[in-house]
Amino acid sequence: MTTNRPPTLLQKMGLDSPMALALHLPSRYEDETRLYKLEEALNRGKLTSVQTQGLVIRSQVIFRPRRQLLVTIEDETAVLQLRFLNFYPSQQKQMAVGAHLRVRGDVRDGYQGPEMVHPTVKAIAQDAPLPTSLTPVYPASAGVSQATIRKAVCQALCDPVIKENLVEFLPTKLMEQLAPSANWPDLQSAITYLHLPPADADTQALLDRTHPAWRRVQFEELLAQQISLKRAHTIRRQRKAPAFEVKSTKGKLKVSIEKGLLKALPFTLTKAQQRVWVEIGDDLSRVYPMNRLLQGDVGSGKTVVAALAAARVMDYGYQAVVMAPTEILAEQHFLKMKEWFHPLGIEVAWLSGSLKSKEKKLAQDAIESGSAQLIVGTHALIQESVKFAKLGLAVIDEQHRFGVRQRLEIQQRIGMELFYCHQLMMSATPIPRTLAMTYYADLDVSVIDELPPGRKPIVTKVIKASRRDEVISGLQDWLSKGLQAYWVCPLIEESEVLQLQTAVDSFEQLKLALPNFKIGLVHGRLKGEEKASVMADFKSNKIQLLVATTVIEVGVDVPNAALMVIEHAERFGYAQIHQLRGRVGRGSADSVCILMYSEPLSLAARERLQTLREISDGFVIAERDLSLRGPGELLGSKQSGDAMLRFVDLQRDVWLIELAKKAAELLLVEHADLIERHLDRWLGSRAEFLKA
Ligand code: ADP
Ligand code: MG
Repeated sequence: MTTNRPPTLLQKMGLDSPMALALHLPSRYEDETRLYKLEEALNRGKLTSVQTQGLVIRSQVIFRPRRQLLVTIEDETAVLQLRFLNFYPSQQKQMAVGAHLRVRGDVRDGYQGPEMVHPTVKAIAQDAPLPTSLTPVYPASAGVSQATIRKAVCQALCDPVIKENLVEFLPTKLMEQLAPSANWPDLQSAITYLHLPPADADTQALLDRTHPAWRRVQFEELLAQQISLKRAHTIRRQRKAPAFEVKSTKGKLKVSIEKGLLKALPFTLTKAQQRVWVEIGDDLSRVYPMNRLLQGDVGSGKTVVAALAAARVMDYGYQAVVMAPTEILAEQHFLKMKEWFHPLGIEVAWLSGSLKSKEKKLAQDAIESGSAQLIVGTHALIQESVKFAKLGLAVIDEQHRFGVRQRLEIQQRIGMELFYCHQLMMSATPIPRTLAMTYYADLDVSVIDELPPGRKPIVTKVIKASRRDEVISGLQDWLSKGLQAYWVCPLIEESEVLQLQTAVDSFEQLKLALPNFKIGLVHGRLKGEEKASVMADFKSNKIQLLVATTVIEVGVDVPNAALMVIEHAERFGYAQIHQLRGRVGRGSADSVCILMYSEPLSLAARERLQTLREISDGFVIAERDLSLRGPGELLGSKQSGDAMLRFVDLQRDVWLIELAKKAAELLLVEHADLIERHLDRWLGSRAEFLKA
């Protein structure tokens, strides 16, 4: 028997309270409410599993070809053989001649006629009543039997705690107003229904999770999420942050860094940049912390906007920090910031994990003393040992690439005791609407929807790898014109070593083929300073062709490099290629991206390459990407392993999100008293993750 297993296994599955058990909903059901006569069962059982019963007329253990138990049952219509390759003596006893068995399984044609192999067996009285509800099948981990879970869930559902916990909070009026025709059951009925649906339930709707009972539960879950997001929003507005208004020229300030930067820029801001700068500047002038995402396709010019924000903060004697998820990206920012701010007399500090401890100490001291006004680096910046003298602004580039945990750490690190600093996130990956409404609801969004003038659209070509020689000779012509190029090596997800190897191979091959040009190689295994020196050489045109792994995926900015060849492009995802090719098309030259692919090409890969050739709009590409991969990757939940919405599918249930949003607004205004209880029962300890 399995019912006496230690409870710790259930607890390991997180099923440690009646509420957790009640919310552990079945993934599917088995129909044990129907019983077929043997003759009919023999026919139906070939298509799907069936339940039937009969009297045991023979039970024997045979030893050829191996030890097994054969049991034959019959009723007035037919005979069926049951075969068990593993069995306990107790089972053998249970199925002795004369016993009545109710069995369930698939029927197949055996040597001696129709048989069921390892059916589910119950010895019962012939007229034992059938269950009136479908039998739930629960998600389970190894070693936990369905019977154990069923029993525990059943007990939980009868627990008075549950009755109290699942009490209907939502005013009937509210539901009628929001979803007049939805006809949802109340929460407790919905949950009971999902655990034990009646025999005639719409099983397809249950499986698809579109049944009204599912809807009711999904709605509750979304409601909890919406409420907590709204609360986070309110809490943020109650926090204090230093307010940075535009300094009037009459102020005490002699030289404004912001004005100095604007004057020194070799270009004027685009309309879109000006607009988002007004939005961000406005946030910075508030007494509560900014929480804004600056979104703009690759190359749209987000960095300069971040620099302006940093300048404003520094004008008030505060520090600004710019963080990026990779060393290369952070390095690029550092160089750019130094180029812009050094002439204005600003000390820009660099902090990354790869610094030697002495250099690190120096940087940390400068940050702590406040002599470093602008600090650029990787997530080494969020380590405990870094203390800011007076932090006013944190810019986090490509923030979705930081994992959820890291994002939480960032949040905690920059939340000071008295003051919270302003936060500006930047990303080239647009947040699809469903995510914007859920996980990112407390985020204000500014969009740069225009590229700087003079940009030529990138021409994307899709070319078979067998034409590699042609591609290389085209590359030679290209380099001969004094232009630079990238050669991106294939992504090999299974092995970093293999990936490095192919990069080295391509590098050697290109060196032989293009002897008149300097070629550099950059990959993830290089030390920080080695990487930096290759990148610097490429930037200053000492290197004409840069062979690289995907380390250059984000943020690298070399306008003279306008050709990119991507090897084995079929192995990359939408977003990766879009990010990669965003490295070209930054200067005034015509830009080309060559996607080389090898046969055979899967249908999905073919479609992906074609889409990428035709579409350059990052928003469209991101939507396609999301519909393929689901939101996990954008959210970084891959890293955390913690999906917050358990019952909701963001793509399927958009309308439900809208509904929950409205309900949350109404509840907050009219039934604030219910909110704590609602959050408690749904989120419990997971509430923390909403802040990331
Ligand atoms: P991204 O949004 O991808 O981070 P960057 O900030 O790196 O883009 O900008 C891409 C390039 O465009 C940089 O070389 C930057 O100096 C340049 N740039 C930014 N704004 C303008 C502008 N208004 N006019 C001309 N060039 C600009
Ligand atoms: Mg950038």
